[in-house]
Amino acid sequence: MIVSTQKPLEEIVAALEGGSRVFIIGCAKCATVCKAGGEEEVFRMQDALTAAGKEVTGTIVIDETCHMLRTARDLRSRREQVEEADFLLVLSCGAGVQSVAEAGEKKVVAGTDSRFLGNIRRFGRFEQRCSLCGDCRLSDSGGVCPVTVCAKGLSNGPCGGMEEGNCEVDRNSRCAWVTIYERLERQGRVERLEVITPARDFAHKRHPNSLTLEK
Ligand code: SF4
Ligand code: SF4
Repeated sequence: MIVSTQKPLEEIVAALEGGSRVFIIGCAKCATVCKAGGEEEVFRMQDALTAAGKEVTGTIVIDETCHMLRTARDLRSRREQVEEADFLLVLSCGAGVQSVAEAGEKKVVAGTDSRFLGNIRRFGRFEQRCSLCGDCRLSDSGGVCPVTVCAKGLSNGPCGGMEEGNCEVDRNSRCAWVTIYERLERQGRVERLEVITPARDFAHKRHPNSLTLEK
């Protein structure tokens, strides 16, 4: 899921300068799970903006704001409230904000910061395990991502800063390459680490990116 956090209220209010009427949009998927833009946060934002002197013309929580057609359709169902507003405040990831921006010509305000693609450890605890590099090497690294879990993103490790199994960048964290070694050792295939992994092809990481599935 995309992990996002809500921007401070002062920053949101500053971005709404020049308009007094706001329509608030939340997302029922990732932004709800990380409590940045679900129903509860949308209602709280409505109260906060009202207290700050804004008029909230309406609110909606769209099933997946990254779904462009669904977002456009759901906003059409609230056409009057949307039209009345000076700004559309979007409490979803940046992809969702752009779905809203593309659905019309209204000014949009991003109410969250998109942080990372996260695994869910437990409710309220998210961990970054994949950086979407486009060239997955997990098969060779015991299922531990060196691009993301190693603080330096090294394709071959550990670096010279590893000490007693811990990372140079954060001494409280296990070195990713030690974890990789230990995992491969338990699986009886530590010889994989004798092969130097070639430098990554960063062309896989180019953006903007797109994908169209074959029929
Ligand atoms: S190597 Fe790491 S960053 Fe790249 S796709 Fe695999 S898990 Fe994601
Ligand atoms: S100590 Fe290990 S995890 Fe930390 S930067 Fe070096 S190789 Fe990466």
